[in-house]
Amino acid sequence: MSMITRFTDGRETGLPLGKILCVGRNYAEHARELNNPVPTSPILFIKPSTSAVALEDPIESQFTYGEVHFETELALLIGERMSQVSAEASVSGIAGVGLALDLTLRDVQSALKEKGHPWERAKSFDGACPLSRFVPVPKDVDWRALGFQLDIDGQRQQTGDTGDMLFDIPALLEEMTRTFTLEPGDVVLTGTPAGVGALPRNAELSLSLSLGLAAVTQTR
Ligand code: ZN
Repeated sequence: MSMITRFTDGRETGLPLGKILCVGRNYAEHARELNNPVPTSPILFIKPSTSAVALEDPIESQFTYGEVHFETELALLIGERMSQVSAEASVSGIAGVGLALDLTLRDVQSALKEKGHPWERAKSFDGACPLSRFVPVPKDVDWRALGFQLDIDGQRQQTGDTGDMLFDIPALLEEMTRTFTLEPGDVVLTGTPAGVGALPRNAELSLSLSLGLAAVTQTR
């Protein structure tokens, strides 16, 4: 059974979680920090619905496969079926805005990248996508001016501003729906800003979004 998605006031959105469509290297500073080239077209990948867990649940930080990195990302809950949509039309299909951690087994991913293999083992495992509740989309939202943060044990670790995206939200949805149909209940992760790192053990993670969303979770 798919995870039930909720608005921040606890109401169910009526959109059972589907696939999670993600973009790699959507912030130039983050591409550089991992010594990756800045892409000319978005790098897309999918996490299955089985990778999602509620952000409030404790997060596993210990794996036998090496380090698990946090990547704090703005998450879009999709409310309409979208295929081949224009950038301008795409944003009306967004039902909610939230935050997610795109957890990544970085050592596994590095080994896969070296061999030219797909990333699923590093990105799509069970629990790889802690997902917050969603804020309904405000009427006057400026998709290019949303800010979000991650603090770990009170220390600022990541700061994101959608104005710094290489492919902004409307452009990203247009590009994604050229290849993948988005369905109600799907989630889009929009990429991580710089500041990623290994998840520390027994730490408190606080995530916040300028639309008034705040979420706290613990690692173990
Ligand atoms: Zn990511």
